[in-house]
Amino acid sequence: MRMTILASGSKGNSTIVASAHTRLLIDAGLSCRELLKRMALAGEDPAALDAILITHEHQDHIAGLATLARRLRIPVFITEPTHRAWVRMVTPRTTMTYAKWLNHIQKEKELRADVAAISSHSVILPQNEVTGKDPRIAPLPAPADATHPDLCQPLSEVDASTDPDPDECDDPAPGPKRDPAFLPAVEYFHSGTNFSIGDISITPFTIPHDAADPCGFVFESQSESVRMAIATDLGYMPPNVKSALKRIDVLLLESNHDLEMLRDGPYPWAVKQRVLSRVGHLSNYATAEFLSRDYDGCATWIVLGHLSESNNAPELALLAAEQAVQGRMRLLGNRVLLAQQSAPLAPICL
Ligand SMILES: [Zn+2]
Ligand SMILES: [Zn+2]
Repeated sequence: MRMTILASGSKGNSTIVASAHTRLLIDAGLSCRELLKRMALAGEDPAALDAILITHEHQDHIAGLATLARRLRIPVFITEPTHRAWVRMVTPRTTMTYAKWLNHIQKEKELRADVAAISSHSVILPQNEVTGKDPRIAPLPAPADATHPDLCQPLSEVDASTDPDPDECDDPAPGPKRDPAFLPAVEYFHSGTNFSIGDISITPFTIPHDAADPCGFVFESQSESVRMAIATDLGYMPPNVKSALKRIDVLLLESNHDLEMLRDGPYPWAVKQRVLSRVGHLSNYATAEFLSRDYDGCATWIVLGHLSESNNAPELALLAAEQAVQGRMRLLGNRVLLAQQSAPLAPICL
C-alpha cells in the first residue's frame, strides 16, 4: 500500500492512497492542471485513479474537484451535507429586484390563466411549484471563513495562478459543462459507516471543524494488512478520532500552527480565535499532546500536514512531534516527516 501526498496546507490539499489494485485521490484542493502536474512529478498515473474522496467543502480541499472528476470520468465519494454545501458554493447566484419579481409573478399569473382557458382540465399549481424557488429568498451566504488563507480560500484565489490547461483539463462533456456542479457520478457515504472501493476498506470518521460535515479517513488493504489514515482540519482531538487512529501504519496528521506564532502573528483577533477554536485547526502543541498521551505508537511513518505558512515553522512542528514520540518501543517506527505545500512528497510505501 502507498500514500503519496501531492500537497498539504492552507493553499491546497490532495493525497493518493493506493493498494495493489485500487487508487484513490483524497481531496482535490489544487487546480486540475496542478494536480495532474504533481501526479506526474510523483510518478502517479491519473488515468489509474478509481475515485475521488472528499473530506469537506473548504476550497483548499475541493477547488479542482469538478474539473478533475469530469476529466478523469471517475466517481466522487462525499457526504450528502458536504455535497450540498459545495453545490451551493459553485452554483451561480441569481438575484432579482422586488419590481422584477412582481413583474415575473404577473407574467406567471397570465400564463396560468391562458393555460386554464385552453384546457378545462388544467390544474392551477401553487406558485412555488410553477416558479421553483421564491426569488425573494436571499441566497445562502458564502461560508464565513471563505476569505482567510489558513482556513479556506475562494475558488478564484486558489486557481488564479494555475488556470486549467485546455490540453489537459478541458471538460470533455459539452452539455454538463454549463453546470458548474456537474460530476460524472456521486456516491454518498456516512461518517462512522465503513465502505469499500476495490480492495480498500474505508472508515470515515467525524472531525470537529467549521464545515458542513467534515471527516477524516482510515484506509485498510485487507490483502496487504496495512492501515493508513488522514486526520487534518480538526480543532481538537475528540475521543472518536483518538480511537479511529489506533493501529495505523502511516498517519497523516495535522500540525497547523505554533501557538505563540499565532498569538503574536499578523492575523486579526477574530481569525486567531477561529483557528484556535474547537472547530479550527490542531496546534503543534495539541498534536504533540495526542502523540505523547493517546497515540498507540504503531505507525511506521507519521507525516505532519496542513502546516500554516504564517503561523508555523516546519522545524518547530517536527521538533514537537519528535519529542512527543521519543521513547516509543518500536525502534524502526515513528519516523516523522513533513508534508509540503509546494511539492509532492515521495510516495510512502509499506
Ligand atoms: Zn478546512
Ligand atoms: Zn484545510
